[in-house]
Amino acid sequence: MSPFGQVKSHIEFAAEQLQLTPAEVQALITPYQIHRKELFIDTQDGPASFSAYRVQFNNARGPYKGGIRFHHKADEDEVSALAAAMAIKCAVVDIPLGGAKGGVVINPIEHNEVMLERVARAYAREFSDNLGVDIDIPAPDMYTNPKLMSVMLDEYEKTVGHSEPGMITGKPLEIGGSKGRMAATAQGGLYVLLEYLKFTKQDVSQLSVAIQGFGNAGSVIADLLYEAGAKIVAVSDSKGAIYDSNGLQPEMIKQVKQEHGSVTAATFGEKLSTEAVLEVECDILIPAALDNSITKDNVQNVKAKVILELANNPITPEADQGLESRGAMVIPDVLANAGGVTVSYFEWVQNRQQYYWSEEEVAARLQQVMIRAFTDIYNEASHRNISLRRSAYMLGVERVIQAMRLKGHVK
Ligand code: NAD
Repeated sequence: MSPFGQVKSHIEFAAEQLQLTPAEVQALITPYQIHRKELFIDTQDGPASFSAYRVQFNNARGPYKGGIRFHHKADEDEVSALAAAMAIKCAVVDIPLGGAKGGVVINPIEHNEVMLERVARAYAREFSDNLGVDIDIPAPDMYTNPKLMSVMLDEYEKTVGHSEPGMITGKPLEIGGSKGRMAATAQGGLYVLLEYLKFTKQDVSQLSVAIQGFGNAGSVIADLLYEAGAKIVAVSDSKGAIYDSNGLQPEMIKQVKQEHGSVTAATFGEKLSTEAVLEVECDILIPAALDNSITKDNVQNVKAKVILELANNPITPEADQGLESRGAMVIPDVLANAGGVTVSYFEWVQNRQQYYWSEEEVAARLQQVMIRAFTDIYNEASHRNISLRRSAYMLGVERVIQAMRLKGHVK
């Protein structure tokens, strides 16, 4: 099943449980707008062009919201899947935003910073009619970062001719970013994980963790869990993994990654393949890199009892079933990684008010949002005896369809 097919099947299951009409289901799984453009860039070797997408999935609950991914495998189907999941995610944490996503088909590892900034500027310029503080608000995603958000804001403001910091989030603090945004995805994941452990009477300091991906989401959750007393036994990036059953220190791994570009350059720990990180002996597995990492081919080798999906769509539906039947608990992406969009929402609110909050205020509000969402989803899942993913989708779908009905998008 394609990524969009997967997300649609989650929405359809929730719709069935909620007894929505066929017309409502159709409206729910249909993107409101799909934009595709070619970005033409002058390079030292002559002109180059990159396909770019912006899928505006649903804005019944508020302006479209969603990150921009730079990846050579980005395509319309994947971007649509991510955009649909954003609509559900914003509804799950009950923030007044819709769902969108962007993607540029480019292999970021093959290009230098200057080139990536040109591509980011071209994206903001070409899609400027479709973006805006009250229209559609992008943010970082895989291989995009606060610096690229800064140049996108600059290009957009030059194109429209006025200042509009709230048109994009994930910005550096100096130009209107929010305190706590860099750590937000991981921090939100941590709040949810700790709440789950509290409900199930487990102590984080007794647990071991393996993390796939050591970027914004993966490296920060490694830090936070290490500080909370958990043992980080394995981490990976695109080049490979390192493993130590006695525990690794995230700070040392970060230094290695910064200096040499990959965790695999570490002189400590055992080297493993990128795939092996998913299969090591551990209590908690955190996919924080790619879609479809846990599939029917490797699910039987996954040993963790808890899987926290910081990445979007890391588990295929067949693998999901495999994990469920074996009693593993999956904390789904639309809840686990919703801390990122929640603090993006806080950033947008601060930009609109021109009034900025302290780090403590951001953290307290984020914690409140994440715990409320987790409790609603966990209680409903226990009550109906369904997975957390199904429960989360039911909550999200119910809120989105309610807004669509009120606005007359469906009968
Ligand atoms: P990032 O670009 O900062 O980091 C990605 C990491 O994945 C890098 O360490 C890279 O080396 C690694 N990676 C790439 N291919 C890999 C492979 N085959 N095996 C193992 N590792 C590999 O990206 P990020 O922002 O941390 O995003 C990671 C995931 O989290 C994505 O699915 C993204 O959609 C999701 N997410 C991120 C945010 C956010 O705020 N950053 C919010 C919600 C969801």
